[in-house]
Amino acid sequence: MSICPVCNGLREVYVLCPDCGQPMLENGREMDFYDDYSPYMEIDLMKMEDGHPDTNSGHKCPHLFRCPSCFKEETIFIKE
Ligand SMILES: [Zn+2]
Ligand SMILES: [Zn+2]
Repeated sequence: MSICPVCNGLREVYVLCPDCGQPMLENGREMDFYDDYSPYMEIDLMKMEDGHPDTNSGHKCPHLFRCPSCFKEETIFIKE
């Protein structure tokens, strides 16, 4: 089993806003936001809900970052 180091507090990810260069703030796992964000995630999530997680592809943990300055949102995939 692999564990996302960011979720477990083992590592911090430092992301700079591509638009204005400010350090972006982590807003948590994208899973918590997927109702109104990133339709392309729904396929993976539905797979998990069906009890058939995709075990072939490398697990990546999506983390949502938001720029405090311009409110740009970026999803960073953390390799687990
Ligand atoms: Zn994570
Ligand atoms: Zn920004």
